[in-house]
Amino acid sequence: MEAEQVLALGLGVTAPWRLVSQHLDTEKHPHELHLRLEADRGALFACPVCGRACKAHDFSEFRWRHLNFFQHHCYIAARVPRTECPEHGVKRITVPWARDGSGFTLLFEQVALMLAREMPVQVAARHMAITDHRLWRIIRHYVGQALERLDLSEVKAVALDETAAKRGHTYVTIFIDLERKARPVVFATPGKGKETVARFKDFLTAHHGQPGRIAEVVCDMSPAFLAALGESFPRASVTVDWFHVVQIFTRAVDDVRKAEARQVKMPSAVRWAVLKAKERTLTPKQAAALWPNWKTVEC
Ligand SMILES: [Zn+2]
Repeated sequence: MEAEQVLALGLGVTAPWRLVSQHLDTEKHPHELHLRLEADRGALFACPVCGRACKAHDFSEFRWRHLNFFQHHCYIAARVPRTECPEHGVKRITVPWARDGSGFTLLFEQVALMLAREMPVQVAARHMAITDHRLWRIIRHYVGQALERLDLSEVKAVALDETAAKRGHTYVTIFIDLERKARPVVFATPGKGKETVARFKDFLTAHHGQPGRIAEVVCDMSPAFLAALGESFPRASVTVDWFHVVQIFTRAVDDVRKAEARQVKMPSAVRWAVLKAKERTLTPKQAAALWPNWKTVEC
């Protein structure tokens, strides 16, 4: 088997396309492998609108970055035809190895997306040797495509919570579908105020959901959220997340302890002794701080 056949096999090129030349450019660092694909002379191509086999009207040169060939960057070049369909006129075809308008092959994009799922985009971009700007464009395309298919017509119970992004005071509010077992996150938006609830309502409506169908919402006790939910989802009963209730009680107990400590000096172990009193796992020091007559029994 010749080298070109091996490469063609690896690329998965099918008729009428075939690999006609390969060239390793050692002047560049890292080295670049350039592959040229060509369609058989006189081949017919499917009209991108109706699929009818049509003659080529004309050709234009295109180039795509492909997955590395060992440590060398790899590029594919080809002259891509426009078909002349009697019904739809002159249209550029989509080649089988890349999507329209992309400077990368489908395989390259697939690997880039896989990496971006596992690590920060900037790190993934470095591994793929492209700018993070270009990787973001790939991600936005596929995420946008997936979002277009998202069907929220069955959603009737959601939970929302804000989380800090990028370590600081930048917040993102996340909305999850409480009945969706796999990939429950259905919407995420910058901010943590009432505008996030209004944005979710618009998003839900744009994806076949009905605000009037939402019967249950779980959230924290933020007054902004509670007021906005009443406006956007008037039929939903709101449940406050137990984690936030416990958090508020814990803070209140601690405030009382601090206020009392200012009046009467207390042992330092009192703080955790009060917070853990119900758990029965106090250290001897904590127990003694709560009950001065408590004695450690040595076994
Ligand atoms: Zn057509």
